Amino acid sequence: MAIAHEIISHYKVNIDREDCQKCKRCLTNCSFGVFSFNGERIIAQSNKCVACQRCVVMCPAKAIHISQSESFLPPHGNYTRKIRNIIWAQSGNGGVLLSATGNDRPIRSIFDDLLLDACQVTNPSIDPLRETIETKIFFGRKPKKLEFIVESDDFTDVSLKTQIFPNFEIDMPIMVGHMSLGSISYNACQAIYRAARELNIIAGSGEGGLHPDFYEFAPNIITEIASGRFGVDINYLNNAAGLEIKIGQGAKPGHGGHLPGEKVNSLIAQTRMIPEGSDALSPYPHHDIYSIEDLAQLIAALKEATRYKVPVGVKIAAVHNSAPIAVGIVRGGADFLTLDGFRGGTGAAPRIIRDHAGIPIELAIAAVDERLRQENLREEVTLIAGGSIRYSADLVKAIALGADVAMCSLPVLIAMGCRVCQQCFRGLCSWGIATQQEYLVKRLDIDIAKKRIINLFHSWNEELKEVLGAMGIDSVESLRSNRDRLRYIGPNPRIADILGVKHAGE
Ligand code: SF4
Ligand code: SF4
Repeated sequence: MAIAHEIISHYKVNIDREDCQKCKRCLTNCSFGVFSFNGERIIAQSNKCVACQRCVVMCPAKAIHISQSESFLPPHGNYTRKIRNIIWAQSGNGGVLLSATGNDRPIRSIFDDLLLDACQVTNPSIDPLRETIETKIFFGRKPKKLEFIVESDDFTDVSLKTQIFPNFEIDMPIMVGHMSLGSISYNACQAIYRAARELNIIAGSGEGGLHPDFYEFAPNIITEIASGRFGVDINYLNNAAGLEIKIGQGAKPGHGGHLPGEKVNSLIAQTRMIPEGSDALSPYPHHDIYSIEDLAQLIAALKEATRYKVPVGVKIAAVHNSAPIAVGIVRGGADFLTLDGFRGGTGAAPRIIRDHAGIPIELAIAAVDERLRQENLREEVTLIAGGSIRYSADLVKAIALGADVAMCSLPVLIAMGCRVCQQCFRGLCSWGIATQQEYLVKRLDIDIAKKRIINLFHSWNEELKEVLGAMGIDSVESLRSNRDRLRYIGPNPRIADILGVKHAGE
């Protein structure tokens, strides 16, 4: 795997010489080695800059300005600057190019082509300031119907006959996506888990195990069982609100996980149960799962290991045949299903897979929801959807398309200070988020980061209530799969057909 170096630097670092106080803060703050001091002045090597903006923020004189490089490359409509940079990098290092965060190709977002309905005259709206709008959901398998045993003719002695499956309650239909300790720092994990507990939402552990310090957050964590089985033991299984078998993820469908050895320090090694400094590579497939029956066996084994106390689910990347696979997974006993679309983020993925494999989450949600309904399975599973849930509007539309819970990660990183420089896999995050280097990790203030995540999701939930009120819906559960309240305004009517959404004006 290799790091992309560009044919021409992407960014230009300018230092205002008159304003510069030569305090050298930029030298200590830049983890990518852009700055040096030659005894007289600060020198900036623009070709090393990733535009993480740390120096700009920390410079007391505000003397640093980062701009896009204006260096001229002869224009070509087909061989764009990006494609030429890819060829240049590969001809230099002969490797697979890595990148981080989600797919950055300018592919149109289907969420942006959807509009929400609002009440007028005949169907009154609900004022969320004066009336209750419920955003709580119950996470886990629901029975198709309830059956009771009536012991007395006057109905004074009635008991429930139906078996109730394990469920837990969250106050907002939001999940923080799986980001492992290793891909992100201890402080970042701590901030996320504390925020999840205060908000009573759910967060994913990622596939890196769960450090014992985080066991106290178990009621708000779904732990992941991936093909590498990193950190999986009976304590891990029994310290979670739910367990998720990770078959795939949106950023790299068909791939395993990869944490470079440089990020595997003693803390990560201990949590993952692997040697320090070794690459943590989880295999592409689970070597004990080659069919739905194999998957069903693992689901059953995990339920048995946890004494049927927590829901067990499966995560898949959104691909062409997600709908029939989803049916098999639910029939195989999964209590929740996580769908991760092709814009889903990651700390490290081969660029070619991240940018070219999988399908948009919007299409996958609609296809899976519809198919589960046809098979009379929809109520048996909680459907989580992620992969480019950027803000509350995407959350609302994902639920209206058929999801129960919207999952996101990059908004959480941005809330904590991430500037989306896409260099997470290098372990040098200058903001202390995607790094294991102690001097960098310390830069992330856990309390501030936690507070910002809480503020972010509090805002989303308030906006969700605003939308529900405008639509005249008093609970988020009634929004789910309510595609009649969406309209399409994009350029491709075929997409509207697949989504099961009418065009605006219809
Ligand atoms: S941080 Fe700003 S003021 Fe300090 S040396 Fe760097 S450019 Fe100059
Ligand atoms: S987490 Fe850090 S390294 Fe990753 S994109 Fe954000 S700022 Fe860059």
